[in-house]
Amino acid sequence: MRSENTNRPADPATASSGRTQPEFRPRGLYVHIPFCKTKCPYCDFNTYARIEDLVPRYVDALQAEISLWGALLHHPPLETVFFGGGTPSYLPADRIVAILEAIRGSFGVSAGAEVSLEANPGDLTPAKLDALRRVGINRLSIGVQSLDDRLLEALGRRHSAADARRSYHTAVDAGFDNVSIDLMYGLPHQTLTGWRDTLDGIISLGPPHVSMYCLTLEQGTPLAQWVQLGKVPEPDPDLAADMYEMAEERMGQRGYRHYEISNWAKPGFPSRHNLIYWRNQPFLGVGPGAHSYLGGFRFANLKSPREYIERLDSRPPLPKASSPMSERIAGVPVVDTVEAIGPRLEMAETMMMGLRLDTGIISEDFARRFGRSPAEVYPDDVADLAAVGLLEDSDGALKLTPRGRMLGNEVFSRFLAAESV
Ligand code: SF4
Repeated sequence: MRSENTNRPADPATASSGRTQPEFRPRGLYVHIPFCKTKCPYCDFNTYARIEDLVPRYVDALQAEISLWGALLHHPPLETVFFGGGTPSYLPADRIVAILEAIRGSFGVSAGAEVSLEANPGDLTPAKLDALRRVGINRLSIGVQSLDDRLLEALGRRHSAADARRSYHTAVDAGFDNVSIDLMYGLPHQTLTGWRDTLDGIISLGPPHVSMYCLTLEQGTPLAQWVQLGKVPEPDPDLAADMYEMAEERMGQRGYRHYEISNWAKPGFPSRHNLIYWRNQPFLGVGPGAHSYLGGFRFANLKSPREYIERLDSRPPLPKASSPMSERIAGVPVVDTVEAIGPRLEMAETMMMGLRLDTGIISEDFARRFGRSPAEVYPDDVADLAAVGLLEDSDGALKLTPRGRMLGNEVFSRFLAAESV
């Protein structure tokens, strides 16, 4: 009989097997880069202009956090890595290389992993693209937003439509075959004709993936203030709905699958990283303000880049391996909030996020995960939403109808409300 371990509490991340338990194994890693050359007036993301002097210390701190999590989670393999922000492409290539090396040193990055980087068109020079590709970045998400120079200027973007087109071609020439383009609609002064021209311009470029986001006026942003003061016209939600319908029609005609409410892809090119979020699977986020979902907990890092750097400067020790996982998460010096997700909330979140996908919630998968099908857990909500034409049961899956896609928030709030009763 072996006696040396009998008094040592089991590590909850590995139980007794010594291998990371599935719920503590992040499938994807999000890396937050909180730097932008300029701050766009509509943006409320945790990102800052004119703090470039922090970049070297920030990269050191990020490497320290990555190494801490790698050790805490026993170096699990990752299927995806996503550099978001902020503007990751604004960092010099050697800094991105250093961060990726830290990730590879602390986690296994699976062969064939999707490694994405968000980019601003103005940053994509052939030399930088070459360096990024050589270090293993294999997917780019380019923030084009519009092909109308007047709107780009109003949005405070630092690129033109010509820059956007050029950057796409430069990326393809550099060997990137998995490129996504981000667009915005529902903008002040945007017309349906202008939107059609942008859509057609992007379709003619032929990227394998396109994301489209309706402008939301975020409290506290300059744009929200300008609208309040009457300096900028209020966005028209009916016009935005027409733009969405136009996008659905035109993208569908050109062979793009509308696989998620805001995302279109050619066959084989849906975002694997974002699918982890929509399937409510575990992921880890590093960097200030980054969110994670792991081991039944959602947790978030503190937001200030300066404080983030200071807390990691001293190379803090690992939280004690003997303590429960919630304490170990809270013991990571940059974690600010931790929320335990009970089974009811996990079911509601799985419904909310899964219904965003065109494949919907597959009843069998849901029952395998939670022991009961969605119709058994939410009989009244499913029946009511189907009766008003927002939800349908098709081939063993619950899906939003076309009208449900336009009114997704009404459907999602129903499941969240059901969680709290
Ligand atoms: S570039 Fe993107 S992240 Fe940076 S301020 Fe503009 S919208 Fe926000």
